[in-house]
Amino acid sequence: MKAQVLQQTVDLQVNPEPLVFSDYPRPEPGPEEVLLQVRFCGVCHTELDEIEGRTPPPAFPVIPGHQIIGRIADRGSAVTRHAVNDRVGVAWIYSSCGHCRFCRQGRENLCPDFLGTGRDVNGGYAEYLVVHQDYAFKIPEKLVGSETAPLLCAGAIGYRSLQLTGLKNGDPLGLTGLGGSGHLVLKLARHHFPDSEIYIFTRNLVQQDFGLELGATWAGNIGTPPPRKLQAVIDTTPAWKPVLAALECLLPGGRIVINAIRKESTDSNLLAQIDYPRHLWLEKEIKSVANVCRSDVDDFLHLAAKLDIRPEVQVYPLDEANRALYDLKNKNVRGAKVLAVS
Ligand SMILES: [Zn+2]
Ligand SMILES: [Zn+2]
Repeated sequence: MKAQVLQQTVDLQVNPEPLVFSDYPRPEPGPEEVLLQVRFCGVCHTELDEIEGRTPPPAFPVIPGHQIIGRIADRGSAVTRHAVNDRVGVAWIYSSCGHCRFCRQGRENLCPDFLGTGRDVNGGYAEYLVVHQDYAFKIPEKLVGSETAPLLCAGAIGYRSLQLTGLKNGDPLGLTGLGGSGHLVLKLARHHFPDSEIYIFTRNLVQQDFGLELGATWAGNIGTPPPRKLQAVIDTTPAWKPVLAALECLLPGGRIVINAIRKESTDSNLLAQIDYPRHLWLEKEIKSVANVCRSDVDDFLHLAAKLDIRPEVQVYPLDEANRALYDLKNKNVRGAKVLAVS
């Protein structure tokens, strides 16, 4: 099969073509696994973190990609949940142990044996992949085409982030960054919290306009004080400065939710920069979002179908995956990027 393969971590400034378009052996499904023929795979910021070594794959070579839509081409002898030709998706959660205290509490995203698709095992930048039947998501019929792929990570993790804010209708919400995940959070928040004002913080003027188009109340540069204080902020940027700036914008008791596995910037000593009275006093909170649970993905897919939430996408052919990553890295982002695989 054709696949985009990562052989080692690289510095994208030095080598802007990290993936090698190769012939790769097609995997065989185990007894409880399904073989997916990949149709679309979303391009996520986490791929940049893997490639540049901030959350490196444990072994090479590896095929990245974790927002995968495809059809079941074959299945193992013990598979009962899916039939050949069913349309399913695969998300960042490739597997979890199922019996640790986190898994038993429905917090499989925190499982110590959590495996991420396209980092710990081969993902969707390829014509085929295998996955356990319990980790393949049925795609609601209303969701069609390339627009469905980003729902599996950008959407599902955005949904989890929005829940972790504890926001109530009418509470003002801030979003720092408005890429693949941020713009879906904005669409979802418009539905869930119709009386909440939404404030966008980004230095990218395209994203500022995009946010206003999608119903934000206000858009400004990171560090510009918004016209009012905010109950919660969801941060989807690769840097720390927006987190510090957002802390200053919070109401007493407000919360910032950081939706990023790793930050790109080297000024990573956030604590050293926190001025307690200015940034944290009055019960302000900082919370990270780790991975996703299957319920996040399932719930969000059904919500997206019901509320007709569709991401804006830019589609690239599989053989141009490096160009999609380059564009993502260099912030030419409006909506989400998707590879058309087969
Ligand atoms: Zn992702
Ligand atoms: Zn577990």
